[in-house]
Amino acid sequence: MPLPGPPSHVNCWVVEDGDGWLLVDTGRSDEPTRELWREIFATSLDNRPITRVLVTHFHPDHVGLAGWICAERGVPLLMPRSEWQRTRILLMEDEAELTALFIDLQRRAGATPDHLAWLWEEGFTYGRSVGPLPRTYQPIGEGDLLRTRGRKWRVRIGAGHSPEMACLHDEAGRLLISADHILPRISPHVGLQPTEPDADPLGVFLAALESFSRIPADTHVLPSHGEPFHDLHGRIAALRQHHEVSLARLAAGLTDRLTPGLTAMDALPLLFGRSFTGRQLTFALAESLAHLALLDSRGRARRRQTPEGVWRFEKGATR
Ligand SMILES: [Zn+2]
Repeated sequence: MPLPGPPSHVNCWVVEDGDGWLLVDTGRSDEPTRELWREIFATSLDNRPITRVLVTHFHPDHVGLAGWICAERGVPLLMPRSEWQRTRILLMEDEAELTALFIDLQRRAGATPDHLAWLWEEGFTYGRSVGPLPRTYQPIGEGDLLRTRGRKWRVRIGAGHSPEMACLHDEAGRLLISADHILPRISPHVGLQPTEPDADPLGVFLAALESFSRIPADTHVLPSHGEPFHDLHGRIAALRQHHEVSLARLAAGLTDRLTPGLTAMDALPLLFGRSFTGRQLTFALAESLAHLALLDSRGRARRRQTPEGVWRFEKGATR
């Protein structure tokens, strides 16, 4: 399904399920995506019904049209509990208050006044790309077994990118639907969230990545963005190394400066070697904060809040 910005598309999966089809993820809620689904329903499913819709996590490109499809087809929604709750809460939240919450974290990250003004202008847009979500659903969680025609899927939670993202592993069929947890070319966005400013999402992500290395190496991976791929263990190692290299660069940057310490904004060139604007800057700052939070939890950095409410990170006690 198409997306307006990078990574330009999201992969949704159609899995044979009894006499019909289980859908995994739906695309964002907009007219072009609805039109594509109508076309698929009419022409590509052998006149067999949709049986249920499974959504991996609360991000708009995955959950956007879930409510519409469930209502339209009269089928149940399956979703991890905290992902369903997060979607429901975000849809009910006051947009101005949520925008203020996001801006507060970006200010702590050292964002420029220009960027903060841009964020006010832009506003928090979740409800514009996610339709209403059913009030009832079937919760799925780590280790649950999901039977579809000829396959047994084990639910594996890939946390970090979102609170409780569901991946599906068919061990006998050597298949893994990896959602956004393990992607072939890009590293999934792992950012500090304004609702949990003291969390360590990158630590959570790396631990979940580690647990996926117990999945057999000859597993074919179906990611939410990019092409299906084979080299699961190589990809896990590459993602881990990518973050460890970034963390090492960042830690070295902290040692080179004494006071007043680095902001997440100061850390962008160390982490990414480039600068950003707009939406990309918002995401980059959240990722920068996640890296600094992990250094903090490892004792390599220490967070200090300035009187202006900006977080500055200094070299930690352990080295
Ligand atoms: Zn996502």
